[in-house]
Amino acid sequence: MFKIGCHLSSVKGYVHMGKEITALGGNTFQFFTRNPRGGSAKPLDMEDIEKYNKYAEEMGIDVILAHAPYTLNCASAEDKKREFAYEAFKEDISRLELVKGAMYNFHPGSHVGQGSDRGIELIAEILNRVIRPQQKTKVLLETMAGKGTEIGRNFEELRRIIDKVELSDKIGVCMDTCHVYDGEYDIVNDIDNVLKEFDDIIGIERLNAVHINDSKNPFGSHKDRHEKIGEGSIGIEAFERIINHRYLRELPFYLETPNDLQGYKNEIQLLKNLYK
Ligand code: FE
Ligand code: FE
Ligand code: ZN
Repeated sequence: MFKIGCHLSSVKGYVHMGKEITALGGNTFQFFTRNPRGGSAKPLDMEDIEKYNKYAEEMGIDVILAHAPYTLNCASAEDKKREFAYEAFKEDISRLELVKGAMYNFHPGSHVGQGSDRGIELIAEILNRVIRPQQKTKVLLETMAGKGTEIGRNFEELRRIIDKVELSDKIGVCMDTCHVYDGEYDIVNDIDNVLKEFDDIIGIERLNAVHINDSKNPFGSHKDRHEKIGEGSIGIEAFERIINHRYLRELPFYLETPNDLQGYKNEIQLLKNLYK
């Protein structure tokens, strides 16, 4: 079954998001666990979560993706910032344990000049502090475009993080199509080889989700500016191959394109039409 959805606002809670994605023709969705620029999470609403879990069961929404705030930097040089990242992570995961089918995606971090070796160490340190043997929530590292000092700019860096995590069976990867294309992985002309490389370096079984975005910038630009599907440098034919690829077709796909809800509805329909 084609699992397709988009990024939604979480301010009105889970039930609202569930109904919203149904209305848009999707069957999965992504949301920020808290204000994307950081800050505290709103109070836990157990009634909303219980109602949502029932709704998801009825509607066959079997997976959703929670996204950590993108300012959270596990590789920061400042103790205070890393401690904030740790606290937010711990709280987010403990809450997500209550929500049916939730996975947790985050940007590995930026080493801010400390070097990628040090950054990778710091990221793994936090993962080792938060991940518990009994947790159900998978934690996904997102593939990054490699702007600035971002870690996760290539598959090797993600592999090096995973290698340092003790409970690494709880770790997966979310591939962002805009980011990998900006990061010099040619998913337009050579998707088979890109995924073979992913398999050789990380292992394809770790790939748990896809962010499906076109890119405003050319191949290898390391920019990270998302574009509407079919209107950027990746293009519609490439997306048709991507969503139907044997390594990807069973994974959940999340649009993070610059769209309002009607725009998302149109893109969900467009992709459903291309799915064989
Ligand atoms: Fe992201
Ligand atoms: Fe993304
Ligand atoms: Zn991005």
